[in-house]
Amino acid sequence: IEQSAFQNDKLAMLGKIAAAIAHEIRNPLTSIRGFIQLLKPFLESIGKQEYARIILSEIDRANDIIYEFLNSSKPSAPMTQTVLVGLLLKETILLTESEAHMQGVELTCEIFDPYLTISIDVKQIKQVILNMVKNALDAVAHVADKRRPNIRLSARKERGYAVISIADNGRGMDRETLSRLFDPFFTTKSEGTGLGLSVSYRIIRNHGGTVQVDSRLGEGTEFMIYLPFIGERE
Ligand code: ADP
Repeated sequence: IEQSAFQNDKLAMLGKIAAAIAHEIRNPLTSIRGFIQLLKPFLESIGKQEYARIILSEIDRANDIIYEFLNSSKPSAPMTQTVLVGLLLKETILLTESEAHMQGVELTCEIFDPYLTISIDVKQIKQVILNMVKNALDAVAHVADKRRPNIRLSARKERGYAVISIADNGRGMDRETLSRLFDPFFTTKSEGTGLGLSVSYRIIRNHGGTVQVDSRLGEGTEFMIYLPFIGERE
């Protein structure tokens, strides 16, 4: 799926707005944090030290979210590193394995070309794969029929590209969703942000790559990330 220049402009603008808002939210959070710390002895004196702990940890959580968000929406140039695609996938799987296991989802990984190497910003591409695996986990949740939910990751070589595939046998997408899934803020989830795929798309484009989607309603979805590869290490 190709995106128009218009959508890329929208993404760049989104990044700027996000950074400005995040910055403006951080300042009041910092002063709230300071005042709560001042109130701590008082809360302790009335036996409510628990309140201070909760407030502080929630403020820290909000700060973490803003930090993550700033990181992901900043149109930064990739910090490249040369890595084996297989290792990258295995490391990424480690981060989602336990969640998949808890949901009873089978997570498999197949590396067709073990020596395939790519030059990427590891943190950014890991984030892309994680976004897609998380979407896949959502897609296989509550699927009505009795198929065992599964997510299959794989890596192979196709002409000048390393292809990383994330396939699930979840709910799939209708035409409307398929045509809009990379739009910033497009989501079909009650608690979604609609940012995961738009940010992922931009990261992949910054790497000189592309992404393709294949989806069948009620059957499943496959995302294929194409990244230029630099060779095969023996
Ligand atoms: P979010 O996950 O917050 O909704 P995303 O940008 O990651 O934001 O995804 C946008 C939408 O694309 C999702 O709300 C969902 O409708 C659809 N989608 C993404 N991945 C899948 C998938 N593997 N299966 C079905 N639908 C998907």
